[in-house]
Amino acid sequence: MDLCEQSPSYIRAIAPYQPGKPISELAREMSLKEKRIIKLASNENPLGVSPKAKAAIKKQLAELSRYPDGSAFVLKGALAKRYGVPQECIVVGNGSNDLLEMAAAVFLAPGTSAVYSQHAFAVYPLATQARGARSIVVPAKRYGHDLAGMLAAIAPDTRLVFIANPNNPTGTFVPGGELEDFIARTPREVAVIVDEAYTEYLPREVRYDSVGWLAKYPNFILTRTFSKVYGLAGLRVGFGLMQPEVADLFNRVRQPFNVNSLALAAAAAALEDKAFVARSTKMNRAGMMRLERAFKKLGLEYLPSFANFVTFEVPRHGEGPRAGAVYEKLLRRGVIVRPVAGYGMPDYLRVTVGRPKENDRFLEALEAALED
Ligand code: PMP
Repeated sequence: MDLCEQSPSYIRAIAPYQPGKPISELAREMSLKEKRIIKLASNENPLGVSPKAKAAIKKQLAELSRYPDGSAFVLKGALAKRYGVPQECIVVGNGSNDLLEMAAAVFLAPGTSAVYSQHAFAVYPLATQARGARSIVVPAKRYGHDLAGMLAAIAPDTRLVFIANPNNPTGTFVPGGELEDFIARTPREVAVIVDEAYTEYLPREVRYDSVGWLAKYPNFILTRTFSKVYGLAGLRVGFGLMQPEVADLFNRVRQPFNVNSLALAAAAAALEDKAFVARSTKMNRAGMMRLERAFKKLGLEYLPSFANFVTFEVPRHGEGPRAGAVYEKLLRRGVIVRPVAGYGMPDYLRVTVGRPKENDRFLEALEAALED
């Protein structure tokens, strides 16, 4: 008997997550110097790590023989102060990805379902499938969430709704008022998890107070990350805000030491580095404008984005999609972007906003790749 056949069929049916190609891998494959490669494939912060976080990491190094603080006391204290919520409402994760998995572990099982949008973040289907639950995928509206459609799609066995705002890979955004209206209309026995991995990049005029919704809607869960604007993707740390009773459930499925000690120290320091966050969002806005102007000049359609990346269309010449070929040509020029065919968007590529020089190199390479 084949051991692998003993794994539940819903596990064997999972299509693994496809990460952005690492710089070291491309360097090996194409015999390129790592220094010559630019990676704009995983929505990382091109400014690197906040100086305050770096200092905290150095200080923490001496303690690496100890287990981390499983209760994340210091980080939770900093988060509680920042967001004005009791510590009992906070759960920390090994990246916000961990929180999404915990939500699935808490609420989903065979015989239940989760609702999410077409073109939504890839971890929603993965987490749902891994629990043997059914996915209800609601067709997108102009590549964004169709909240009315999602509300109508909630079934008697639905336990969880996933919403990314802004969404990855489309960069689309649902105004706060519409999102709150959706949560208010969702049955109380269905959890709504709003994944705000990119919320810090939102322009001031569209920001909304989702933390305030916690007091109003007991089925509301909010997740955020230190991987993007805080520049700590490699350390893996994120957090969720929710009712204390829900947090208690999350803590039952959470690994005892799920966030490592360097990540805990770095995240608490990064949270206080307001200057770094401001520099990051400012550079992102300027870079986004630069990319949008260039796409217009090149006659390329793109999805207007509220995050730190933008997804653009690669026009077809003949019958089939050309995005894959352009992706390969960019790789040969040492530029890594992200194909999104796996998201049902075979004619698109996603590029992270980089430093000014990286954006320029990407655009130069793109122009050449489109002409080839
Ligand atoms: N949500 C969204 C929408 C994302 O794009 C990502 C990262 N790609 C995550 C969650 C997970 O990020 P992390 O685990 O690094 O916090």
